[in-house]
Amino acid sequence: LTAAEEEVLEKIEEEDVDFLRLQFTDILGTVKNVAVPARQAEKAFTEGIYFDGSSIEGFVRIQESDMRLVPDPDTFAVLPWRNDEESAAARMICDVYDTSTGEPFEGDPRRVLKNALERAEDMGYTVNFAPEPEFFLFEEDEDGNATTETGDHGGYFDVAPKDLASDVRRDIIYGLESMGFEIEASHHEVAKGQHEINFEYDDALSTADNVATFRMVVRAIAAQHDLHATFMPKPIPRINGSGMHTHQSLMTTDGENAFHDEDDEFNLSDTAHSYLAGILEHAPAITAVANPTVNSYKRLVPGYEAPVYVAWSDRNRSALVRKPAARVPAASRIELRSPDPSCNPYLAFAAMIHAGLDGIEQDLECPDPIRENIYEFDDEKREEYGIDTLPSNLGEAVEALENDEVIYNALGEHVAPKFVEAKSQEFEEYLVDVSQWEIDRYLEKY
Ligand code: GLN
Ligand code: MG
Ligand code: MG
Ligand code: MG
Repeated sequence: LTAAEEEVLEKIEEEDVDFLRLQFTDILGTVKNVAVPARQAEKAFTEGIYFDGSSIEGFVRIQESDMRLVPDPDTFAVLPWRNDEESAAARMICDVYDTSTGEPFEGDPRRVLKNALERAEDMGYTVNFAPEPEFFLFEEDEDGNATTETGDHGGYFDVAPKDLASDVRRDIIYGLESMGFEIEASHHEVAKGQHEINFEYDDALSTADNVATFRMVVRAIAAQHDLHATFMPKPIPRINGSGMHTHQSLMTTDGENAFHDEDDEFNLSDTAHSYLAGILEHAPAITAVANPTVNSYKRLVPGYEAPVYVAWSDRNRSALVRKPAARVPAASRIELRSPDPSCNPYLAFAAMIHAGLDGIEQDLECPDPIRENIYEFDDEKREEYGIDTLPSNLGEAVEALENDEVIYNALGEHVAPKFVEAKSQEFEEYLVDVSQWEIDRYLEKY
């Protein structure tokens, strides 16, 4: 066993951990887990735990269904809502291996992200990501089903007594901190019942793990308060939706921020400008992965601080990419504002990284920033500035993904076709549905 693995065994003893949840995610980003008694930890590290992958969304065909999970000891964490005096449960995030070849399974989203990081490393970089996930806390009805009622009347950065959910948010933060998160900030968001919790940047793999964990913890602790936490991008029409702005930067292998340049007008290096250009170039295809639900496109409309137009800015928040003010060189970074928290973070981060690296490799020219409110531009003005529009629905986004080799290949041979198939089907189901809006509008009129 490695030192990190030994340390996990010690912690299992110390904290009286009875059960281990071995976690991984399917292509859609849903956390799956296999629970094993804690005494199997050593075996899990040395041999792995076998499971039937045929029942996992998009993983494998039936005839090749045996998969092996090998836990990553760095992700060991005691689950805060399963921790009492006598016993506790802990989780570890796993890598998935193909039992027939013994190789990492290419259909594992975590593997897809690792491939992106390997490409970055070959180019001399490590990758830092920090997300800003937003979510709503809704009340449950008498039967315990989620509603879209908030019972909360707070607004942006309001404090108690208006912010009735601040107790819940405090418990969520304690839970996250006990699992090793460093919380940077948390606040009430623009809409009633909407919240944001920001955690410290980390390497992109740890950050993707953190997003998966974050969603699980927020839901579990909200449920303890009889609230339903949702990461659905636009639960209430005509009200701000939930985004997951993603801050990103590259570091050189000697630990310098490769995005910083003292002498540049925006303090962004040539590397950063090309990375940004790559993000803009591949933005439509990235959208399919970073905004993977029908509902995602109800958020990406003008007027609610969500991006619609493919442009960047060092000033305003209507642009797709923003250059946040950085107080120290290490903090020079770009912020992609399109992702929403319904995405699979492993796949979405992989898509962004490959887009940025492609920009660097091709030495793509970065356009000038746009400093005006782009929501107010008409078609003519947008054309004059050469500003494209993001896909307006999931169908268009999937088409953009299929037409973009860089992003399609970013997902890998296994995941790309399965992702496209699942999302095309989802969009088709939506197209043939008849919505409440149509009933309200037409039933009595015609
Ligand atoms: N909720 C907005 C979005 O959809 C973001 C609001 C903000 O963080 N300023 O992206
Ligand atoms: Mg924020
Ligand atoms: Mg926000
Ligand atoms: Mg932000």
